[in-house]
Order: sequence, then C-alpha cells, then structure tokens
Amino acid sequence: MPVILDAASELPPVENLTKFIRMGVDMVAFSGGKGLRAPQSTGILIGRKDLMEAAYLNAFSFNKPKASIGRPMKIAKEEIVGLITALEIFVNADHEAEWADWRAKSQVIVDAMQNIPHVSAHVYEGPVYPGPNAPTAVITLDDTWTGPTAAEITEQFRNGDPPIYIGDGPATNVLWVAPVALKDGEAELIAKRLVGVLSLVNG
Ligand SMILES: *Cc1c(COP(=O)(O)O)cnc(C)c1O
Repeated sequence: MPVILDAASELPPVENLTKFIRMGVDMVAFSGGKGLRAPQSTGILIGRKDLMEAAYLNAFSFNKPKASIGRPMKIAKEEIVGLITALEIFVNADHEAEWADWRAKSQVIVDAMQNIPHVSAHVYEGPVYPGPNAPTAVITLDDTWTGPTAAEITEQFRNGDPPIYIGDGPATNVLWVAPVALKDGEAELIAKRLVGVLSLVNG
C-alpha cells in the first residue's frame, strides 16, 4: 500500500522537497500557492514514477481518449510556467536571509508589546504551529485580561482600515502574526495597531 503524503503547507524549509521521500514516503504533494508563492491553483507531486503517471492520467490533458476527473481543475499554461519559475526561485533563494527577515519583522511586533499590562509576547520559531513554518510573533493575554478575546481582536483587525489578517488560537487568549507576506514597514503598522487595541481596552 503506497503512502501518499499531503504536505501542502510544509514548504519552507526547502529540505522538505526531498526529506519525506528519503523517509520512505511514496509520493508527496505540495501546494504551489503557499510557501512556494507560485500561482494559487498549482501544486506539485514528487515521488514514485508509477504513482505520478497514475496521477497524470487523471490530469486535464487532451492527450487521452476520455475526459478525466482533473478536467474541471485545469490550470493555465501561464500558471504552469509561474509554478516552475517560483520553484526555481524558491530552491535558489537565500533561505537563511529570508528566515532572519521574518524573525526581525516578528521581533518588531514583539518589542511593541513590552509594557502593555496583561500582555506578553515572544517570537516562536518552532515547527508548524502556530501559523506557517516561520518565526512568528505570538502574543498571549494573561488570566487577568478583561478585554476582548483573541478571536474578537482578529475580527476587529479584519474589519479595520487597512484590513489586517492576524491569527488567533487555538487557545482563546493567543494571537499570532505571521510575517511571511509582510513588506518592509508593514510589521511596524501592525505593531502600532496592536498597541492601540491592546492598551486601550485594559485600563
Ligand atoms: C492548504 C492545504 C491543502 C490544500 O492545498 P491547495 O494547494 O490549496 O489545494 C491541503 N492539505 C493541507 C494539509 C493544507 O494545508
């Protein structure tokens, strides 16, 4: 029985492109539209040739007698080129520099949380949780916090101007900010909004 691994969001780290196969998995699927930053509709399969050929038989190609299950999920040629380009960029990227940049952006947010009563924060660099596999700013509201829940705060951020998507959970008192899609200067903007929201409610 082949083992097929759904590793959609397991990039980065780049080592994962080959790690799971080395561990003995028969075929791995990665999303294009997550850590690879390729077009959203794309993805890649890596693994045993016969399994990949079986998947190909179900793809959208005209090159077969009958329409296949993959036909309604057809992706454009431009997206395929985009995926291959994104993969080349990803494999050749300076992953350490990128990690350091994410760490610095998360640190900006963590630093801004100092001196806010009932709030603590740290940069989390563990495996996948919470958020993507990158240094992530994790903010904890303590037991004596009397303000809105983390979920209410994330909703407030989504409805703000500009809308900002931060994360919350799994505990009701935990917020997190993933830096992977932030441009320079945006961590400061988020930090400022957080300071405003978190220091106002809790006199
Ligand atoms: C995101 C995700 C998917 C879906 O991937 P798409 O590329 O959006 O189709 C599937 N499985 C897991 C574990 C995911 O994280």
